[in-house]
Amino acid sequence: MITTQKLTGDLADDGWKGASDDCNMENLKNSESCDPSSFLRHFRKSSATPVMLLRHIAQAMATEMQEGLDHPGERKLKMLPTYLECLPTGNERGLFYAIDLGGTNFRVLRVQLDGKEGRILKQESIQVPIPQEVMTGSSKDLFGFLAKTIVQFVSREADLGFECVALNQKRDIGFTFSFPVNQTKVNGGSINAWTKGFSISDGVGEDVVDQLEIALADMGSVNTKVVCLVNDTVGTLAQCRYWNDDAMVGVILGTGSNACYVERAAAISCWSSPPEADDLTVVNIEWGNFCSELLPRTFADEGLDADSLNPGQQEFEKMIGGMYLGEILRRVLLKMAEDTGLFGSEIPERLTKPFSLLTPHMSTMHGDDTSSLEVVGSVIEEAIGVKYTTLATRKVVYDVCDIIAERGARLSAAGIVGILTKINRCGDLMLSCLTTPNDTEVKKTVIAIDGSLYEKYPKFRNYMEDAMKEMLGEDYANNVTTTLSKDGSGVGAALLAAAISTELRLGDVGVTK
Ligand code: ADP
Ligand code: MG
Repeated sequence: MITTQKLTGDLADDGWKGASDDCNMENLKNSESCDPSSFLRHFRKSSATPVMLLRHIAQAMATEMQEGLDHPGERKLKMLPTYLECLPTGNERGLFYAIDLGGTNFRVLRVQLDGKEGRILKQESIQVPIPQEVMTGSSKDLFGFLAKTIVQFVSREADLGFECVALNQKRDIGFTFSFPVNQTKVNGGSINAWTKGFSISDGVGEDVVDQLEIALADMGSVNTKVVCLVNDTVGTLAQCRYWNDDAMVGVILGTGSNACYVERAAAISCWSSPPEADDLTVVNIEWGNFCSELLPRTFADEGLDADSLNPGQQEFEKMIGGMYLGEILRRVLLKMAEDTGLFGSEIPERLTKPFSLLTPHMSTMHGDDTSSLEVVGSVIEEAIGVKYTTLATRKVVYDVCDIIAERGARLSAAGIVGILTKINRCGDLMLSCLTTPNDTEVKKTVIAIDGSLYEKYPKFRNYMEDAMKEMLGEDYANNVTTTLSKDGSGVGAALLAAAISTELRLGDVGVTK
């Protein structure tokens, strides 16, 4: 245990309840002592996201999106083109594959599609951990490993009762690749950097699809073709769009956060041969890097950013991503332990260790509906190592979870409403914030969302959905639906492969799209 010098003794024994209000944002910054309830009041205030602020943040997001489209690669929002010319419709038929490389595992999937009547007749996947020596080897080792796994999986298609692809026909694959890529065409792009624990000695700047196809050709036994290279937001949108034509936006709320949306192909200025002007495509916003003076940042965000591997970047993601919410909580509780003696006269040592509190800890505590907050108490004991806490202390910890989650959820909602503003589906209430008034359309819009934060943190989800209603107004909000699009990074890519090859087949026989 580390002893704090700032403490006046008995605060942990509920003694702080009547303490004086000597906290303000200045002394939150300057580490002067105050009582937990004053600290909490000021922290709540500096994290506040009233609806008018959210509307302005949404407007700033829409403006930045346009900036990013007009100045490719030069603004904080990269607005990466996917070069997709179609999305799944539900009419696709046949056997299609997807591969998904994004973290510690590699997945291969196949789906048997039977148009709108049969939909997804059959689906199967395997997931294999990437061996450490492959994660830190050469790109040839990595793509060789991926190719070997694909070939083994493909060769079992007949045994499992899947309709086989004719020998003279290629198996089309959608490739979800969640690393930074400089995409040059719908099925090609060079890797900018290996991240997430991969430290491959070479391959940066080379086309990942070419490398995979060379490795597959070296294996010699299967006839495969990668028809699209996408990231997880696009897979999420594609999966939802397969079922519902109104799906316009894909959002990831998991470890990190990002979004993509349906845009006019003509808006992509760097596309040398875009399809017809009215045709649609998908843009990957990379919204995690959004930043704005409007974002309600606190000392905890500043500290987290300064100590991060990428200071000054991904400001928005650092306020909403699952990787960060628990760490923000830890930083706030540590400051409260130091300044207000929240956990008594000593500072729990574990609380001084970055990432000792994770977002699942936070959602578990936030989900505690017992009157004595027993779950909060046991998480504090397990994660922070403080065995005995008073109800008042547990209530403070609960409230801090609530403030951080509410802010993250409401900012995520502002991001989504920003996209709706960009595509003119935001309703009249948002118009009051627009610098250039739009003609907002009343059309049904579906937002496809994937990620554990949305799926497994009900209070986060509820705060987000409530904030969207507040921003859009109840009436307009009835046109906007958010829906879990689980596992889009896998199935979505297979459905996209199916859509692309259906489109190509129609093109071959001269059918207009
Ligand atoms: P990924 O983003 O890697 O594809 P997920 O969508 O599963 O994976 O998101 C993982 C993130 O979600 C982790 O950062 C974790 O903190 C957070 N998370 C996992 N389970 C929960 C939970 N029950 N409540 C809140 N957050 C969770
Ligand atoms: Mg994911």
